[in-house]
Amino acid sequence: MVFRARLARSSSATTPEKSTTGYVVAGIWSGGQCYTPPMAIRKIATVGHPVLREVARELTRQELAAKPMQGFIDDLIETMHDANGAGLAANQVYEPIRICAVEVRNNPRYPYKPNFPLTILINPRLSPTTTETFLNYEGCLSVPNLRGEVRRFAGVRVEAWDREGRGVEFTVKGLTAGTFQHEVDHLDGTMFIDRIEDTRSLTTWADFDRFHMASFVERAKALVATYGS
Ligand SMILES: [Zn+2]
Repeated sequence: MVFRARLARSSSATTPEKSTTGYVVAGIWSGGQCYTPPMAIRKIATVGHPVLREVARELTRQELAAKPMQGFIDDLIETMHDANGAGLAANQVYEPIRICAVEVRNNPRYPYKPNFPLTILINPRLSPTTTETFLNYEGCLSVPNLRGEVRRFAGVRVEAWDREGRGVEFTVKGLTAGTFQHEVDHLDGTMFIDRIEDTRSLTTWADFDRFHMASFVERAKALVATYGS
């Protein structure tokens, strides 16, 4: 794990503490000052690891409010940013609990994806708002160097809590709806490779750029024109 000290300067040392998520969280001494809590870039589980096939369990508001859980959410965000992910689910970093993050900000892995602000979902539920679907070319941090076409609903209603435990409800469409379906699938132990419609669409990232990117970008533009995202 790579620790990054930040913020929260404290005048007293913190003792290492065992987090509820099973990871040891330790304060870092630096120049006589303690920077706590540290943020950590977590290891990402790759396909074949059983944690990716677990149905993640729901959290209570009490569990969510606990400091180590809030620290875990910071780690999830930090890890997603470090890996240039458009989203990351807790079980991708070995914690089978129902938390996922989504954020698209000029993403180099998916340059055609419209931006979407950082969103943390706790115990999310998705329901399609339309029967319309589209083929999305997806990749996944847990499936290195592979992309393929997956059918997704063109719109989904999202019901969840935010990281403070407040209920949130909104609708996402088009490519953004695809991203949310991909992340919430993870929490049910489902990966995009399970939903590949035609295995002949599978491609390495280099060959996606060479052979598939241009046509997919055209489709992506059409989707954004139709659904706004
Ligand atoms: Zn994924």
